[in-house]
Amino acid sequence: MKVIGLTGGIGSGKSTVSQVLAELGAMVIDADTVGHQAYQPGTETWKDVVAAFGQEVVAADGSIDRKKLGAIVFGEAGALERLNRIVHPRMYDMMAEQIEEYRRQEVKVVVLDAAILIEANWTPLVDEVWLTVASEPIVVQRARERTGLPEEQIRSRIRSQLSNEERMKHSSVVINNDGSLDQLRTKVMELWEGLQHSNN
Ligand code: ADP
Repeated sequence: MKVIGLTGGIGSGKSTVSQVLAELGAMVIDADTVGHQAYQPGTETWKDVVAAFGQEVVAADGSIDRKKLGAIVFGEAGALERLNRIVHPRMYDMMAEQIEEYRRQEVKVVVLDAAILIEANWTPLVDEVWLTVASEPIVVQRARERTGLPEEQIRSRIRSQLSNEERMKHSSVVINNDGSLDQLRTKVMELWEGLQHSNN
């Protein structure tokens, strides 16, 4: 079995590549979904988050109010790091378990789709890191169309994320997505073909 870690900055085409890989037959683990599961009431993460940030982050139905939590962690120095130290290792364990389950099922290719794969130190879970990149004007344009956010907000998101230069140091495959969707699809299909010919 091969485990691919797929990462990339906002608007780089990561979700599109993930979708194409799923269509081709990969089992995709979406880190955002795992994140949501990690916060479910009754979990250790839920308890630790409430202990760290107070009862005010608990919504009426017992779930963690992500908006309230977000306001705290983005407004207070060091709070985001504190939250990440609670949540990221748990997500690591959950994803490791899912990968093992796929191994038992003799799945051939697993894709771990995670924007923060490198930042969260999840690369030990994967055999290869694939990175989607596009030039900044193209990223801004596509992200604007998709999210509707103003340009400055997108640029500030880009600035707050890891640079592509840094991401590339951890990546074995860089997928340039400055071209058309068809070109992207073709590139992903070629990479998929390459995987079918590798031995493990
Ligand atoms: P990410 O997951 O990296 O934020 P997406 O895959 O969601 O990026 O792509 C951002 C937006 O750009 C989406 O609306 C997607 O359909 C579009 N897009 C991605 N790649 C291309 C491309 N090569 N040509 C045109 N549009 C694209």
